[in-house]
Amino acid sequence: MGHTVIQTDVIVIGAGIVGAACADALSQRGMRVKVIEQDMAGSGATAAGMGHLVVMDDNPAELALSAYSVSLWNSLVGDLPQRHEYSRCGTIWVAADEEEMAAARAKADTLSAYGIACELLAPAALYEREPQLRPGLAGGLLVSGDGLVYPPKSARILLDRAIRRGATTLRGSVAAIEDNGVLLADGMRYQAQHVVLAAGSRSTALLPELPVQPKKGHIAITDRYPGFVHHQLVELGYIKSAHAASGDSVAFNLQPRPTGQVLIGSSRQFDTIDLAVEPAMLQRMLRHAAAFTPALAQLNVLRCWTGLRAATPDGLPLIGPHAARRGLWLATGHEGLGITTSLATAQLLAAQMNGDSTRIPASPYLPGRFHA
Ligand SMILES: Cc1cc2nc3c(=O)[nH]c(=O)nc-3n(C[C@H](O)[C@H](O)[C@H](O)COP(=O)(O)OP(=O)(O)OC[C@H]3O[C@@H](n4cnc5c(N)ncnc54)[C@H](O)[C@@H]3O)c2cc1C
Repeated sequence: MGHTVIQTDVIVIGAGIVGAACADALSQRGMRVKVIEQDMAGSGATAAGMGHLVVMDDNPAELALSAYSVSLWNSLVGDLPQRHEYSRCGTIWVAADEEEMAAARAKADTLSAYGIACELLAPAALYEREPQLRPGLAGGLLVSGDGLVYPPKSARILLDRAIRRGATTLRGSVAAIEDNGVLLADGMRYQAQHVVLAAGSRSTALLPELPVQPKKGHIAITDRYPGFVHHQLVELGYIKSAHAASGDSVAFNLQPRPTGQVLIGSSRQFDTIDLAVEPAMLQRMLRHAAAFTPALAQLNVLRCWTGLRAATPDGLPLIGPHAARRGLWLATGHEGLGITTSLATAQLLAAQMNGDSTRIPASPYLPGRFHA
């Protein structure tokens, strides 16, 4: 099979939200970018996710990355929020009991200290905002700057921006990453000064040594019930289950889509890459959601699907140069927060590649932290 060598500045492997954001940020800096995607842009985890843009604060690095990224999203959606199907719905972290209310207060302190607007809600204020919540909850925390987008659409918009600046896209499956280039499954070779691996949970197919593990998640979507809920509702108990390093779990996570549909999440499972919907897991997730919003059980669920998050041992993504291979860059391992953190990832990566200073310290996300 004939091999063609084509020279460009950067090859980005993967056109999920992370690869698309990287193509956008790199082309904005004048680099010639080629994006190689084996499927459709935004069809991987990006299509499976909820699209919640959320400031998370499990550790200072996660807070810095997500807060930076939410501010970048606000500028990106700008005057045309409907193009991204954006809604600034805010998040209400729901506290089931006094222990979780204490967690809400701690979260409020952390976010406020970082300059993120938030408001503790006593039960009356919680039910005024979200009457569908079951009685007996302890309260909540409203983070009003959080929002949501339709992620595959946003990925497409970012990719199109890059294309307008001269970036090219190629439908193909990368079989191997070589020195300064890639080998495709069809035998073609493409060369570039830099290669960015943004292949999500499939990144380990190309670099088996990466500390990235798939975490499967189920999602369901209802028919249209405008006004059923108004904010993204997440249980504070989520923090306990979402970061477990093993075992299956479900957490209450409800999202009001701009269409009036209700997106219901979410579950977490390790040790499987089978994308099939599992009825038992789905039922467990829906029951748990209905325990928080009982009327949910009366709504028609139209569709269910699953996706794979790319989880790292410390819950932070891998952003920056590969520890051992010159010219190879990583933008992967975004777990359950990659829609939110895609834009900051792209800015950090583009700044590092060009030797520029970064808006937030890049060190917590450097892939080298796992390099023995
Ligand atoms: C159920 C669920 C709910 C979620 N909810 C949220 C949320 O509310 N908010 C949030 O911020 N995040 C959420 N996430 C996380 C978010 O979806 C991911 O972190 C994000 O989509 C990762 O984007 P990515 O571009 O890295 O990966 P992907 O979207 O998976 O993109 C990788 C791309 O690379 C391509 N590819 C892979 N291998 C190759 C190859 N060898 N050659 C060519 N192309 C290749 C794939 O086809 C794919 O298109 C959720 C995830 C799941 C699963």
